[in-house]
Amino acid sequence: MNYSEMVVLIGNKCTTKCNICCFDSTIESNELINDEYISNYLYSLKDSKEIQWVHFSGGEPFLYYNRLKKYIKICSENNKNTTVITNGFWANDFLDVLNTLTELKICGLKRIGVSFDEFHNEYISCENIKNILIVAKRLNLYPSVQSVVLKNSKIGDLIDLLGDSISNVPINFMSCDKVGRADNIVLEKDLIKRNMEQMPVCRKGHTFSVKYDGTVWPCCCPVVYSTSLSVGSIYYDIKTVADALKAINDNKKLKILRNKGFNYYIKLFKDYGCLSMPEMITSSCELCKLFFDISNENFYEKNLYNNLNVSEVKLNAL
Ligand code: SF4
Ligand code: SF4
Repeated sequence: MNYSEMVVLIGNKCTTKCNICCFDSTIESNELINDEYISNYLYSLKDSKEIQWVHFSGGEPFLYYNRLKKYIKICSENNKNTTVITNGFWANDFLDVLNTLTELKICGLKRIGVSFDEFHNEYISCENIKNILIVAKRLNLYPSVQSVVLKNSKIGDLIDLLGDSISNVPINFMSCDKVGRADNIVLEKDLIKRNMEQMPVCRKGHTFSVKYDGTVWPCCCPVVYSTSLSVGSIYYDIKTVADALKAINDNKKLKILRNKGFNYYIKLFKDYGCLSMPEMITSSCELCKLFFDISNENFYEKNLYNNLNVSEVKLNAL
């Protein structure tokens, strides 16, 4: 196990209502992480050699601006790098953007990401995104753009909209997963899919996350939050970053997943004949949703934990 990064989802409120939102966030959403618990948890970073980067997200994290500044400062005081990802709703005035990003840089912010695609662009002007990209480059905040794409997305149009501001800015295109609002709105036929056999392993084992309800998860993929893979909560059993890493390390299902890949679970469910396997999937994360659905817990109790000596799984491969 090589975790070096952590995501903190501060709250689920958002100024927009994108169709592809994995959290179903709206301006009415009101889940917000407890300030005292998350602050204490972040202070424990001082004892963590493993974690080097902390990413803040939401919902829309700039709706919690004072908290955002406070959390970035805590991380920075403990020698950790920080990033924030935003939809850019606050960035319509160039000078305001300059002031805001200068303030965050003084707090210790190292990088900024913006979410922008055809779905975000229904609510947020590309001028806001241009302001952030231009200012962030000037301040050496190394901006990047995250875009969710469907089969028929016109990537060239997006780049045209951002014009010169996108030069030297990396764009990460992510295929849409059927989760949150996307699960209700996006049609199956519009999703980008690949053959299941091309994705037998989880490739994102370096970042774990703390959700706005205090729960701790082994990755930051939105799909994971609809599974049984939570390893605890900062309100109960996970007081420190070290506790979180230990809980992830000790989790039986994850141990098998990280060592044996999805093929182990594909065979297990095929042997017991209790799940029909799709041929095409959007990502390996869809397999997590399939195998680690909460409703499968009884199955694991009966057929996995009793029949497998988990201590035999090689820990050194984690
Ligand atoms: S995808 Fe991001 S910007 Fe859009 S509604 Fe969800 S949290 Fe807000
Ligand atoms: S495959 Fe599962 S554990 Fe890996 S990133 Fe996706 S949801 Fe997370």
